[in-house]
Amino acid sequence: MKGRKLLMIPGPIEFEPEVLRAMSAVTTSHVAPSFINSFGNALDLMQKVWLAPNGQPFVVAGSGTLAMDMAVANLVETGDNVLVVSTGYFGKRYQDILERYQTNVTFLDAPVGEIPSLESIENALKSKAYKLVTMTHVDTSTGVLVRPKEIAALAKKYNALSILDGVCSVAGEEIKQEEWGIDVVLTASQKAVGVPPGLALLVASSKAMQTWEHRKTLVPNYYADWKNWLPIMKAYQGRKPSYFGTPPVNLIMALETSLKIIHEEGIAIRVQKHQQLANAFREAITALGLNILPSKKEDAANTLTAIYYPSGVEAGEFLKQLSKLDVIVAGGLLPELKTKYFRVGHMGAVTSIDIISTLSAIEFALVKCGFTFESGIGLSTFQKILNKEIE
Ligand code: PMP
Repeated sequence: MKGRKLLMIPGPIEFEPEVLRAMSAVTTSHVAPSFINSFGNALDLMQKVWLAPNGQPFVVAGSGTLAMDMAVANLVETGDNVLVVSTGYFGKRYQDILERYQTNVTFLDAPVGEIPSLESIENALKSKAYKLVTMTHVDTSTGVLVRPKEIAALAKKYNALSILDGVCSVAGEEIKQEEWGIDVVLTASQKAVGVPPGLALLVASSKAMQTWEHRKTLVPNYYADWKNWLPIMKAYQGRKPSYFGTPPVNLIMALETSLKIIHEEGIAIRVQKHQQLANAFREAITALGLNILPSKKEDAANTLTAIYYPSGVEAGEFLKQLSKLDVIVAGGLLPELKTKYFRVGHMGAVTSIDIISTLSAIEFALVKCGFTFESGIGLSTFQKILNKEIE
């Protein structure tokens, strides 16, 4: 693909050629035996990649926001108390979604770049009975990584369900859904799962399914209601035809292909690769004299990095210089800091060569913007750290 632009935003990402080939295969009937088998395989593979062998997977046409909506539409009822642990823009989105379902939302956040403390989460949970707790594993607006294991354990201690927005983390960050007792882990196809945009993906625990079964009221959202989708997922997993809404056939074939690649590589190796690349990239950025948005390095995500512009460097000019080199990164997303930082995605099929190209372009753009640093220091730091890590 000579002449292509290098897409380094935090989703959609660049996809494996095999996944793109699955997208361009002849579209079959959604009840063709070959497709039933692909859909069934994709659902089985989700249980493996999510490390939730007893979880109930759902695959529905839509984006990550639908996955967020579907999880809570099925689990909350009017008047429920819910706790949103927020580390940025997508925590706020969960608050907005939950308010549509007439729940009482407690919104717990922290200064930008930080994570609400476990103590503050426990204090909130102690204060009244909560139905559920939501958390964003990696908030794509800040690049902050939370520790879902500890938050899920607290939710469990206080008899609340836990939902992990893993849109920017599933298949890139460590998640052991069943071992950690997380009730719903949700994502979208276009990020570390490695499939073009269009699929809302989630896996629900047995406890989440029981909570849904024992609802007193109807799910007030027709499209998201598990009553419509559960028989479909069960049918495909049993390799039987079924229909509720036409499934996005090619996207699901691409999902099967991508999950196979991830599973065959091994989820633990995949996660470690993300950690190694991200760590070397963060060190390179620091060596250039730039600061990252998360307050502590150990709270920084491995799927993307949010980076402050150094003083004197203007967002518009910097991004223009980068795009001259055909490297595409994302601008800021937090409204209050929009022009103060940029974001680089490094997940899924990303390679060290992609990151080297990106760092080289960042160095070029910084020079063009009048920022001074030791020439090549970002690139050499990246290579030094990465070589040490993979030795
Ligand atoms: N949550 C997080 C953490 C995200 O990064 C995103 C998308 N960037 C979403 C939710 C929403 O996903 P979508 O844009 O696919 O609706």
